[in-house]
Amino acid sequence: MSGPEASVFVDYFDGRSAVPRRMELTIDGTRLLLLPAEGSTIVWPLDRMRRLPDQAGSDGLTLAPADGGPARLYIPDGAADLADALRVAIPARAAPPPIPNFRARLVGLSAAALTSVALILFVLVPLMADQLATLLPPEGEAALGDATLEQIRSALDESGRDGLAFCTAAPGRAALGRMTDRLAKHTEFPFPLKVHVLDHEMVNAFALPGGHVVLFRGLIDAANDPDEVAAVLAHEMGHVAGRDATRGALRSAGSIGILGLIFGDFAGGTVALFLANQLIEAQYSQATEERADAYGIALMQKAGLPPEALGRFFETLRQQEGARDERSLLDHLSSHPALLDRIEAAARAARPAQVSPVLNDADWQALRAICR
Ligand SMILES: [Zn+2]
Repeated sequence: MSGPEASVFVDYFDGRSAVPRRMELTIDGTRLLLLPAEGSTIVWPLDRMRRLPDQAGSDGLTLAPADGGPARLYIPDGAADLADALRVAIPARAAPPPIPNFRARLVGLSAAALTSVALILFVLVPLMADQLATLLPPEGEAALGDATLEQIRSALDESGRDGLAFCTAAPGRAALGRMTDRLAKHTEFPFPLKVHVLDHEMVNAFALPGGHVVLFRGLIDAANDPDEVAAVLAHEMGHVAGRDATRGALRSAGSIGILGLIFGDFAGGTVALFLANQLIEAQYSQATEERADAYGIALMQKAGLPPEALGRFFETLRQQEGARDERSLLDHLSSHPALLDRIEAAARAARPAQVSPVLNDADWQALRAICR
C-alpha cells in the first residue's frame, strides 16, 4: 500500500479503558497512524497486526497487535475501501465468518426507522432494564451472571483459546474462602456468593449478576495487605446487594440483543469485547458507588475489620495511577473523579471495638500465590 492516503475515523480501545477513543486513521506506507484528538500519534506497523474473527453481519473490521496485546482497533462499516485494503494487507487470526446481506438490510432502514431504533436503544432499553431487573427470578439472574462471566473470560483471553484462567491453587482458594465467609456471614443474598480470581494483571474487581464477584490477580498483587482485599470484596458485595451489575448487564445485553434483531448475527468479537468492557468498567453512577462504599464499610465494621482499608487501597491506586501513565488503572474503583471524597469517607468510618486480622500471614501468602 502507498500513502499517506485518505483518513477515516475509527474507534480505538486501549484494552484498559472501556471507553473507545475516536481516532483519525491514516495508512502511511507499511504503517497505520492513529491520531487521537489530543496526545501523541500511535503507530501500528501493518506486519505486526492481525485481524480478529468478527462481525458476522457487519462489514466492520477489528484489528489487534499480533503479539497478543489487549488494544483493539475497530474500523466501522462506512470505511469499506480501507477495510478491504487492510483485509489484504493483514493476516487473519482465523477465517472470518461469511457475511450475510447486512448492507441490504441497513440500506432498507429509513431515517424514521433509524430514529426509532435509537429511541429503543438509548431510552427504552435502559428504562426496561431497571424494570426487568425487578422481575428477573434468581435463577434467571444466576444464568445471566454465568453467561456474562464466560463472555468476559473469553473476551479478555489474549490467546484466543479457552478464556482467561480461573486461579484455583488450593491454599489460596481456602484463604479466599475464609475471607469471603468472614464478610458474607453478615449479608443476605438471594443466591450464594461466588468469588473468583481470574489470572489477569489488570488491577480490577467487579460484581456480576447472580452473586459472582471477580477479583483480578493484579488487584491482589496491588494490595498492601489482606484487609485491603477484604475491603474491595466488601464493596463488590455492596454491588451484589444493590443488584447493580444486573441492571447494567440487562442494559448492555438488551441493547445488543436489539441490534441483533435488526442486523442479524451481530454477536461478533467486537460486540462481545465491548459488552465485556462495559460490564467490567461498570460505569455506575457516583451515587451507586457511594452506596457500595457505604455497604462495604458497614460490612467491614460488622465483621470486625478495619473499614479504612478501603480508603488505603484507593489511595494506593491513586498514587500508582499518578506514577504510571503508561498503564493507567481502568477500574470503577479508582477512576472516579470523586475518589478523594471516597477515600476520606472510608478514613472517617469508625473502627469496630474488636478488630482481628482477616487472614493470618500464611493465608495471605497463599492468597497472593493463588494463580501460581
Ligand atoms: Zn464499585
